[in-house]
Amino acid sequence: MRAGALWDGTGEGYRRDVDITVEDGVITSVAPVRRGAPAPTVDASDRTVLPGLVDVHNHWHLRGRQWAGRQGPLWLAYGVTTSRSTGDPVYRMLETREALRSGAVPGPRYLGSGEPLDGARVRFGFMRPVHSRAQLHRELRRAEELGYHVLKSYQRLPVALERVALRRMRRAGTQVVSHYLYPAVGTGLNGMEHTGGENRLGYSRTLSYAAGRTAEDTVTLLARSGMYVSTTLLFAYELYLDSRDLIEDPRTRTLFPSWEYAALLARAEAAAGPGSELDRAWTEGDVDLLLRVQRAGGLVVAGTDAPLDFVGISVHQNLRAPVRHGFTPVEALRTATANAAEALGAAGTLGVVRPGARADLLVVDGDPLRDIAAAARVEQVLVDGYHHTVRELLAPYAGLPQEPAPATAPRPARWPDAVAPGPPSRADMIDWCRQPRGPPGHFAPPPHPRPTD
Ligand SMILES: [Zn+2]
Repeated sequence: MRAGALWDGTGEGYRRDVDITVEDGVITSVAPVRRGAPAPTVDASDRTVLPGLVDVHNHWHLRGRQWAGRQGPLWLAYGVTTSRSTGDPVYRMLETREALRSGAVPGPRYLGSGEPLDGARVRFGFMRPVHSRAQLHRELRRAEELGYHVLKSYQRLPVALERVALRRMRRAGTQVVSHYLYPAVGTGLNGMEHTGGENRLGYSRTLSYAAGRTAEDTVTLLARSGMYVSTTLLFAYELYLDSRDLIEDPRTRTLFPSWEYAALLARAEAAAGPGSELDRAWTEGDVDLLLRVQRAGGLVVAGTDAPLDFVGISVHQNLRAPVRHGFTPVEALRTATANAAEALGAAGTLGVVRPGARADLLVVDGDPLRDIAAAARVEQVLVDGYHHTVRELLAPYAGLPQEPAPATAPRPARWPDAVAPGPPSRADMIDWCRQPRGPPGHFAPPPHPRPTD
């Protein structure tokens, strides 16, 4: 591949006019174009080349049946070449992993996981309740034999059992992550998913309820422990007010099932509606934490939580929102390249363009180091050396009639859409604090308190 400009996944700027040689799915050389060199197989001499993007947190099979085979092409078309599950129904994960590995379905490299483990009382029906040490070992054996990349300890697994899981999973080379900073940081877990997920401990919140502001001890613990934190900026749809490029894009219009597309339009609409001011503040608070952790030397990694957020486009929302609220474009891109690879234990192999790395490459139109939106303008993608154009990825779906909406409601109404708009009272705030709300797995922001409250 000949690149007019190459960003290697870590540096501050571009290398100009380079040839990238790939053999058997591996990059073997990255060198200046030689005079008289033969014509390249892929000519991107008037384009920018980046490493393929990594999404460390998603769940293909939560609502996955509604997507059928469309997720793989859609992730690739938006530049994601590595996709890591943090919890899926395990036999569906295996089916998808085999389909992707065999090439029967085009898509990213897929690092799978099974059902998260929880305490005796599970948060969601598909999770595995753990009652005893003996049962825990049966679950861990299942994780070993089915090859989980990561095991998610959800919210209620007792710490003593979590330590047992960590010891055994380390031997198997499987990561263990949770939603918590503490006690996870003491136990030695690999990462904290979300800037502040639901909490069942009654302590150890990483964010305040005042739209996600964070105290310095959280930043220090994350930066010094080596635990990664995933971005999962689920409320960043303020960005749709500035630009609807991801909504109008042919990749979105062609590969989204019709009901997902309708949900996306509704989400964009809500960006100007009641509650949007609070969501904006919430995103700002999240990014404030992430930026402080990153600049203190911590490991911030891009995670989408799709399809709870929108498949494909959410990775770009997780790059754009940080830039809007203080990251430089290079800092944001690193979260989905070198940082993410490091978090997955694949530093030097994924998320970088250098000899020895897997040949995961994007050809984009524009200058993403100046304009982060250009990272989404993917035209061609290599994953493990296999080449796809966006046109080829869309071709099987182009011209198909729109899918009928499913019989069941695809997406629950999220607060504040479910309640009458208007400033909430103190009683509303207390009520919110007592009752879980929001889409599965994620806590919605609290009502915006009036100054007089
Ligand atoms: Zn999740």
